[in-house]
Amino acid sequence: MIDTKTSFDREAAGAANKARPLFFIADLHLSEAIPKTVAAFEHFIEVTANDADSVFILGDLFEFWIGDDILDGPATDARADFARRMTRLMHTLSERGIGLYVMHGNRDFLLGKRFMKDAGALPLPDPFVITAFGKRIVLAHGDGLCTADRAYQGFRAFARNRFAQRLFLALPLDTRLGIGQRMRTKSEGSRMTGIKAKYDVTRKAVSELFIKSRTNTLIHGHTHRPAMHREVEGVRWVLPDWELDANTPRGGYLRLDDEGVRALPL
Ligand code: MN
Repeated sequence: MIDTKTSFDREAAGAANKARPLFFIADLHLSEAIPKTVAAFEHFIEVTANDADSVFILGDLFEFWIGDDILDGPATDARADFARRMTRLMHTLSERGIGLYVMHGNRDFLLGKRFMKDAGALPLPDPFVITAFGKRIVLAHGDGLCTADRAYQGFRAFARNRFAQRLFLALPLDTRLGIGQRMRTKSEGSRMTGIKAKYDVTRKAVSELFIKSRTNTLIHGHTHRPAMHREVEGVRWVLPDWELDANTPRGGYLRLDDEGVRALPL
């Protein structure tokens, strides 16, 4: 098994087939309310991913995750049913010999051990460095780089605190669902104003990450502004979010192979 505590060296890990590419996705914001986006994810896992050595999900796979005990919810609960359907789907990757790595986003930071086990996934800390195809690449969700949004960084520090998480998880499931619902509504509002520079990564945070990680390639999501940016210290790839239930469907993934990184549509 690969040690995901520090970094992932694909060459050292002795991947069975080193020629096979790595796929990166983020910000699917899955829930039972967006069936077309869910169908696209199912197709991605069942068909597209068959070409991959591993799939990396860099945060916000789910619109909200209020605790792994949702997986024990009654069959009559649509949300529990949905959570189980998604973990079962993801587990088919490991059954086909395809690796699955999951990083927390700002929506689904409560994805825990039980989820990882049921999905056949290995958790990735944020940020995380991989070495593959002779390249060192740093992966991040991206919210930690939006340092101009001071209020959010304060919430982020609180939300990632283990003690705060334990208190939240001790609340009854229904209470947590209510809190999650309210946070989602609030965050929808701020997503509308997401064009403001405040909600993008800062030059300083990106620069510090490149230097600290000793890499010149960064892949992240969160900002929903897919692009390839040439920064001073290296190249910054931003993953697209997925939204196939909207009027202008969007989505996509990044593929890394011996020719480098490429952005591909779904
Ligand atoms: Mn996010």
